[in-house]
Amino acid sequence: MILEAKSLYKSYKKGNSTIKVLEGFNFEMEKGDFVAVVGPSGAGKSTLLHILGGLEKPDEGFVFFNGENIYNDRKNLDNIRNKHFGFVFQFHYLLNDFTALENVAIPGMINDSENNAFSRAKEILVKMGLEGRINHFPKELSGGEQQRVAIARALINDPSVLFADEPTGNLDKDNSRIIIDEFKRLNAEGLSIILVTHDEKIASVAKRTLRMEKL
Ligand code: ADP
Repeated sequence: MILEAKSLYKSYKKGNSTIKVLEGFNFEMEKGDFVAVVGPSGAGKSTLLHILGGLEKPDEGFVFFNGENIYNDRKNLDNIRNKHFGFVFQFHYLLNDFTALENVAIPGMINDSENNAFSRAKEILVKMGLEGRINHFPKELSGGEQQRVAIARALINDPSVLFADEPTGNLDKDNSRIIIDEFKRLNAEGLSIILVTHDEKIASVAKRTLRMEKL
């Protein structure tokens, strides 16, 4: 099992009331799986993704990556997140003052030399069909291209799990299709993917669907 969650609880306080989001939630994922998380807005999809990805601690319960409790140790959690997890969000969050190539290479410099990070970044961008865009700045790229650069950035440290939260939320149909085909290709190459989406069509490319409801 690459990723496993046991008995997750999460709630948020809003004024005097408490919003329960997860209550005893369990999750299991084998290496190479592609899971689409679907459900109405407010069902807790993003919260679940953040907890599984080590971005937000659950109130109770455990998350295991390759059998290791990720929230056991802060330093180890940072290490797991940097080396083994990749993230793609609805907004690309690219750095405006850096080129596509630099945006992808920069997080690669945490684990590797600058030279290696740049050559790997270029390789990934070329594979994603962005060879002609590597020296462009984010504002010189289309929305679909920006999101592909964000995916390339998520891949720079060769993660084992890719977490994607509504990655096509801002894109038109054609660009969404390109992004989804990219995910399919990456999954076929062995990358495990968890994708949050409210779009059933997009969910249908995953190997399985996890349906969440509001509590
Ligand atoms: P989804 O991704 O399915 O739309 P979310 O996980 O974003 O759902 O949110 C689940 C519920 O938790 C919502 O009611 C939301 O308002 C609430 N929530 C999420 N994050 C916070 C937060 N940081 N503080 C307070 N409430 C939150």
